[in-house]
Amino acid sequence: MFNNLSEKLDKALHTLKGHGKITEVNVAETLKEVRRALLDADVNFKIAKQFTKTVQQKALGQDVLTTLNPGQLMVKLVKDELTELMGGDTVGINLGGSPTVILMSGLQGSGKTTFSGKLANFLKTKKSKNVLLVGCDIYRPAAINQLRVVGEQIGVEVYAEEGNQNPVEISLNAIKHAKANSKNVVIIDTAGRLAVDEEMMNEISNIHKAVTPQETLFVVDSMTGQDAVNTAKAFNDVLNFDGVILTKLDGDTRGGAALSIKTVVDKPIKFIGTGEKMDAIDVFHPDRMADRILGMGDVISLVERAQEQYDEDEARKLQKKIAKNQFGFDDFLNQIQQIKKMGSMKDLVGMIPGAGKAMKDVDIDDDAFKGIEAIIQSMTPVERSTPTTINASRKKRIAKGSGTSVQEVNQLMKQFDQMSKMMKMMQGGGGRKMMQMMKG
Ligand code: GDP
Repeated sequence: MFNNLSEKLDKALHTLKGHGKITEVNVAETLKEVRRALLDADVNFKIAKQFTKTVQQKALGQDVLTTLNPGQLMVKLVKDELTELMGGDTVGINLGGSPTVILMSGLQGSGKTTFSGKLANFLKTKKSKNVLLVGCDIYRPAAINQLRVVGEQIGVEVYAEEGNQNPVEISLNAIKHAKANSKNVVIIDTAGRLAVDEEMMNEISNIHKAVTPQETLFVVDSMTGQDAVNTAKAFNDVLNFDGVILTKLDGDTRGGAALSIKTVVDKPIKFIGTGEKMDAIDVFHPDRMADRILGMGDVISLVERAQEQYDEDEARKLQKKIAKNQFGFDDFLNQIQQIKKMGSMKDLVGMIPGAGKAMKDVDIDDDAFKGIEAIIQSMTPVERSTPTTINASRKKRIAKGSGTSVQEVNQLMKQFDQMSKMMKMMQGGGGRKMMQMMKG
């Protein structure tokens, strides 16, 4: 996420480190670099200019803080300003109304249908809501089918009326259907066009007036940069929407949309989409995103994701196994699967402070675990539970079965061995032992 911008800001701020105190000259130099970094990230020119002006004023008003490392101070000022630029506080969605009606708007291809599914899944699993998805694209039957596929995947009912050419009517009927079937959230996916046009705007505006939604969300592809901002403005003029959804932030996006949209339409970014799968959705936190942009990681989100996957019963069972020396390859496989559920590896690594920068040239492969999984799957149950039974000829067989080499099998055995030892040490009241080991 925003790798280029992160790298350039890091370089800009680095210049200040090592200077004794903040002077007008070194602040100006640094901010020139910061502004260039923002422009390269496709941030609107006026916004970038205002950004550096604000940081400059704040920096020069800080002589009291001359004892603090100027580099650190600038990082803090830039971080605070980035947070402000992206909206300051986290803004959730309004779940009032019975049912809550959420209207999705945006261009075709922005990720509207995918996000409707993600949001339905989020509200179902995290907020225990009974959700109804509504397909209102009367022009493209394929769009309705896509929504049906999504609905099936997440176990959420999809309402559509084949043959009905009136999206206002479909929406109102859907709300009636929701009321009659104790649904508490209705998400209406509307038809998009490839570009802003009057007909589309009239249509969505009519639906908006008829259903008076609690939330009107505008979905935009973050890869489209400044275009995203222009489209947002056009939709906001007509709908006065409540929030923005930025999709495809997992891609090679430069960040311009995320950093400009709030200033232009004065509406908060509420969620981000970070992948094609139904769980690739995150609540947008401006401060955490600023941390990530500045390579400070996002430990809070990382811990939250780990907690979501944490199963107390499983953890207790695992502890027992470790204590009894029964930790085997099946448990190892299980652990890998838990990690995979937390999200894509690239995304996770980006949340570790400093890791994004350190690993920027490393091609993080989400299939990295595939080889390991294949090796373990080629082992017999006995080999999995008692790894000591794996001798040279068995290794050869396992390598052949998994399409890997004996060397790779050996490497995995070694990693497994180290992991088992470490877990044992942590168990045996060994926090202290670990510390000693790390100190060398
Ligand atoms: P719609 O026309 O606005 O309904 O857009 P779709 O939901 O059909 O999405 C268009 C394409 O973008 C599809 O191929 C989706 O899989 C993909 N897509 C949607 N959201 C994301 C995202 O957050 N990340 C990535 N990488 N792809 C996405």
